[in-house]
Amino acid sequence: MKYIGAHVSSSGGVFNAPLNAMKIGAKAFALFTKNQKQWVAKPLDTKTIDLWFLNLEKSKVLPKHILPHDSYLINLGSPDEESREKSLNAFIDEIQRCDILGLDRLNFHPGSHLRKISEEKCLDLIAESINKALACTKNVKAVIENTAGQGSNLGYKFEHLAYLIEKVEDKSRIGVCIDTCHMFSAGYDIRTKEAYEQTWKEFDTIVGFKYLMGMHINDAKPALGSKVDRHDSIGKGQIGIEAFRLLMNDPRMDDIPLVLETIDPDIWKEEIELLYSLEVK
Ligand SMILES: [Zn+2]
Ligand SMILES: [Zn+2]
Repeated sequence: MKYIGAHVSSSGGVFNAPLNAMKIGAKAFALFTKNQKQWVAKPLDTKTIDLWFLNLEKSKVLPKHILPHDSYLINLGSPDEESREKSLNAFIDEIQRCDILGLDRLNFHPGSHLRKISEEKCLDLIAESINKALACTKNVKAVIENTAGQGSNLGYKFEHLAYLIEKVEDKSRIGVCIDTCHMFSAGYDIRTKEAYEQTWKEFDTIVGFKYLMGMHINDAKPALGSKVDRHDSIGKGQIGIEAFRLLMNDPRMDDIPLVLETIDPDIWKEEIELLYSLEVK
């Protein structure tokens, strides 16, 4: 069974996210557990935590179908030691917030070399940061997202994800999130049955489906391989509806959060319905 939702707002408090998910008929969702544009946030207080669990129960969404996203400021592979340290501390705080909220996974972008160090050196730094973060936290899996490869962001090749997994000591706490827009923009075609099967076969060989902990379901504005990160509404971009039909009928994507990050939140409800309508019963 498929669990589809969207990256909903947690404005006003994390406890609003499950309610926002309910409004659009979501069976899964993503959220920021703090302001994503700020380094520090005040700790989650008891009232907030109680209300979170109350609303979560109302929404009937299970923790394993929730994919929190970390702050955009964090760069675990920063060539600058001071900002890498700052990122690591913020990342640890994010993991702990997830743990307090009873969530078992945290989605993050691997990091950027900022054209100051090699890709390999940057990946080594990211792996080192992940290992440090996992060593002083518990329960939550670090879920690496593939990227479009825009700027100096790493994670645009399945090999990058595999390299990081390989270097992470605790394999039980590492996973990946595949964003369809990023995948397409990075050069992985999924538009036809043949291309779709080929791309996922490659994913399985290099990374492995056992590490797939969630997906971001987005169409893409830019062309295949353009390395530009611009999402579009489902069926309205360069990927097109067929890829999403294939995905909706692919049991390998069962039981993980499938999260829309498409550009028009006003039609998320319709997009969720559209995706479910593609399932062949
Ligand atoms: Zn994404
Ligand atoms: Zn994106």
